[in-house]
Amino acid sequence: MRQETKCIQAGYTPANGDPRMIPIIQSTTFKYDTSEDMGRLFDLEAEGYFYTRLQNPTNDMVAAKIAALEGGTAAMLTSSGQAASFFAVFNLAGAGDHVISSASIYGGTYNLFNVTMRRMGIDFTFVDPDCSDEELEAAFRPNTKAVFGETIANPALTVFDIERFAAAAHAHGVPLIVDNTFATPINCRPIEWGADIVTHSTTKYMDGHDTAVGGCIVDGGKFDWMAHADKFPGLTTPDESYHGIVYAEKFGMGGAYITKATAQLMRDLGSIQAPMNAFFLNLGLESLAVRMQRHCENAQKVAEFLQANDKVAWVTYPGLPGDRYHERAKKYMPNGTCGVISFGVKGGRAAAEEFMKHLQVAIIATHVADAHTCVLHPANSTHRQMSDEELIAAGVGPDLIRLSVGIENCDDIIEDLAQALAFV
Ligand SMILES: *Cc1c(COP(=O)(O)O)cnc(C)c1O
Repeated sequence: MRQETKCIQAGYTPANGDPRMIPIIQSTTFKYDTSEDMGRLFDLEAEGYFYTRLQNPTNDMVAAKIAALEGGTAAMLTSSGQAASFFAVFNLAGAGDHVISSASIYGGTYNLFNVTMRRMGIDFTFVDPDCSDEELEAAFRPNTKAVFGETIANPALTVFDIERFAAAAHAHGVPLIVDNTFATPINCRPIEWGADIVTHSTTKYMDGHDTAVGGCIVDGGKFDWMAHADKFPGLTTPDESYHGIVYAEKFGMGGAYITKATAQLMRDLGSIQAPMNAFFLNLGLESLAVRMQRHCENAQKVAEFLQANDKVAWVTYPGLPGDRYHERAKKYMPNGTCGVISFGVKGGRAAAEEFMKHLQVAIIATHVADAHTCVLHPANSTHRQMSDEELIAAGVGPDLIRLSVGIENCDDIIEDLAQALAFV
């Protein structure tokens, strides 16, 4: 199946007389005939469901669709993108371990790594995604357990060199984790470029309609845990909480990572996506391919309009030929990148505020990447506590406006921007 068909058909094949849509299995628990049947599930000896804190059939069908779209072997849904990022790393690294991350990542992920996971005893080194080979090499330590990056960073719109970071990670015997939220598997499939694990905030384009917060983790199934057994004892030595199962032996390269994350992390920490939310997510996935195409078409036109407008100081969009990441974007995302643009209006912070006040089609919202065009002024919201000097140092200047171009008629979006720019 091609991507457009997988969006509709993957993950669930109804049998004779079954519902056509993935059904919502709104049940916390599941019935068995004997205690022995139940026991085999608890020992991971049989496949099946017993309690929705760990696994639910609706979630698994939707996760299987995302795994098919990404070209992975196994996947799980989480309650949010934050939970996906946390589980993806925590499934490999614990106290005393170290992780390398691109410095150009979503702010929420940066806080999770740099504050909360440090408090759990995991150390992080943040590297410039365009650093020299020497700098990248120097970041690795004997206790490094993973490398992390974002295909298109939110909101900096840096394009991550997946192949380069995958090669460096593999040379040190560790997997590359890529957050593919902004590109989606419609525009980029990181596993094909060497990534081992892919994460998503499904809250964004995948859901696409402002309906449900959620996340997903996909395993590419290509990382050989046993070949680096000393680095990943959680996967390669017996788990006493499951009668001594060795995940990498019992479930192989294709299944070990997600089985461990389900059996240990979901069991102990919860954070599963509600089946109802998984149903909404599936509705979004069905139209993901057509929506992404339209988001990219609209964003390209809007970026070109902004670039040509004399009230606009600068525009960052990887689809623009002059953009710093244009060539890399063409390599990894030949069909388009995403619908998010950042730009500044002449006159700085005050001009940005004036401009946004007059928008009518584009709404002001702390959100990106869905059907509705929306704008955010980070200096007045997500980055409000920072001084102008700190904002510039963080690459989020006081004039920066993040514009998430939706799938409305593009002429309406451009006319709205034009009338609001006239007030600046
Ligand atoms: C929003 C976002 C997240 C966090 O996802 P939530 O669903 O809000 O928890 C992670 N990564 C990226 C790139 C995001 O845009």
